[in-house]
Amino acid sequence: MQKLIPDGVKLVAVSKFHTVESLREVYDVGQRVFGESRVQELMEKQKVMPSDVEWHFIGHLQPNKVKYIAPFVSLIHAVDTPKLLAEIDKQGRKHNRRIPCLLQLHVAVEESKFGFSLDEARDFMSSGIWRKWDHARLDGVMCMASNTDDRAQLHSEFACAHAFFAEARAKWFSDDSYFNICSWGMSHDFDIAVAEGSNMVRIGTSIFGLREY
Ligand SMILES: *Cc1c(COP(=O)(O)O)cnc(C)c1O
Repeated sequence: MQKLIPDGVKLVAVSKFHTVESLREVYDVGQRVFGESRVQELMEKQKVMPSDVEWHFIGHLQPNKVKYIAPFVSLIHAVDTPKLLAEIDKQGRKHNRRIPCLLQLHVAVEESKFGFSLDEARDFMSSGIWRKWDHARLDGVMCMASNTDDRAQLHSEFACAHAFFAEARAKWFSDDSYFNICSWGMSHDFDIAVAEGSNMVRIGTSIFGLREY
């Protein structure tokens, strides 16, 4: 899988719903970054997998569950409300960590997807309130595109996320070495995502096969 992905693009192996044995196989061929979307499942796997795994939380996260993953999580992809970021700050402070996070943008046409609209994201960033929450560090932007085969649509949604990333980087992080992650692209659309500036792809099905829910 890593061979299909260009240099400079980080692969998150999305292992949700797969067994520890399957994770082990992928670990054994060199993969160290794994993504999970449920807190309980992540905690169970983290306990038994080797300690050099970098765990990413990629799903919708309820603020009251941040405390369980705060001690060890390497990146929280889907920060979709100011409240969640404030809680991550609070838990980061407790554990004396600065927890890396991505702002989730809502760029898809589907109503059900979480995330900040572009206007909400701009308002939130302009408010500057996040600067006080210095135990949560904004490292970039994440999005999920619409569930469609319309490649033009996918290009335009990812391009929209990238434009916001570039704007935010220039406006609010021009002096910082962080804020450089663009997390978009899954099994069926990662080639388009990479063409539209992604440098972190989250791939499950193409690595582990279909999930059994
Ligand atoms: C499940 C999931 C993925 C992986 O999707 P695949 O189609 O299996 O590659 C990526 N991102 C998020 C947020 C997910 O929940």
